[in-house]
Amino acid sequence: MSRHAAWQGSADHVELSPIAVSLADIQAAQRRIAGLAVRTPAKRSFALAERVGGPAFMKLEMLQPTGAFKVRGAANRLLALTNEERRAGVITVSTGNHGRAVAYVARQLGLRCVVCLSELVPRNKIEAIVACGAEVDVAGTNQDAAFERARARAATDGLLMVDPFDDPYVIAGQGTLGLEVLTDVPDVATIVVPLSGGGLAAGVAAACKASKRAISIVAIASERCPAMLRSLQAGKPIDVAEHPSVADSLGGGIGLDNRFTFGMVRDLVDEIQVVSDAEIAAALRFVFSEERLVVEGAAAVPIAALLRAVGGDFVPPVVAVLTGDNIDPQQHLEILRA
Ligand SMILES: *Cc1c(COP(=O)(O)O)cnc(C)c1O
Repeated sequence: MSRHAAWQGSADHVELSPIAVSLADIQAAQRRIAGLAVRTPAKRSFALAERVGGPAFMKLEMLQPTGAFKVRGAANRLLALTNEERRAGVITVSTGNHGRAVAYVARQLGLRCVVCLSELVPRNKIEAIVACGAEVDVAGTNQDAAFERARARAATDGLLMVDPFDDPYVIAGQGTLGLEVLTDVPDVATIVVPLSGGGLAAGVAAACKASKRAISIVAIASERCPAMLRSLQAGKPIDVAEHPSVADSLGGGIGLDNRFTFGMVRDLVDEIQVVSDAEIAAALRFVFSEERLVVEGAAAVPIAALLRAVGGDFVPPVVAVLTGDNIDPQQHLEILRA
């Protein structure tokens, strides 16, 4: 356990909740999404290797067609719709990247798509969603308000709600990234992922734990909105205030009626850490100067955790998942100059 652990998993719960997403579900997702999501490389990082004292890799999810891993879950969900559901169309709520992924996949499949967003979602992300041909509905000052709007419109407009994380198809889709890591870095000992609603952490953890290999899953949250962490500490999903963060994609709660990701993260994730906006900004600068890679704030949180680690905190080989690069170019420049 590292000095920075804010929460530690325990295997005690495994008997309590059957895991909602099986290895077979994730393998089925891998076959289903192959034409829409790409298989991303795990790039070796010598700068990070020095920090963790052993091999380190970055999984480059910004190479996905929408610039973030979310296309995996969105593709798996939409490709599993019935013909009737396809005819009706879909609605979703998003901090940006999920909405863009759903809009992208919906366009490929020729479906109607509505994306509800809060006023916290950056302009560049809204424009990208509109460019995919989706209808955008900006409602409320936070993600929870946008969620309410999406729920209401799903009912009145007869659209299928595509949850950004709390859906077994979405979780299985995100888990395909874990299967790729198992193949590409067969001796991986630690996978570090960003944590918001927990679809990514739950899917990757389900894939890795099913492999029965000794792999530690460490999830990193932003201290500006650690909804999953606070909920785990409370023993149930709770409301957590959302503050603007450089990691804008990590905003929003986990849903008081959370059905899947809360239990899966509790039972399958080994450790949660929290990082500050200053640490995230420093990590974003590190990734650019050392690796010449552009990432958005949310994608820099695993790097932020690795940069403050001391030997032994993360057992190598370590894989850090760089989840996306959808940052406003002006904001990126400002952070680099700071
Ligand atoms: C959505 C998102 C996350 C967090 O994923 P969850 O499944 O909500 O935990 C991390 N990084 C980026 C870039 C995202 O878009």
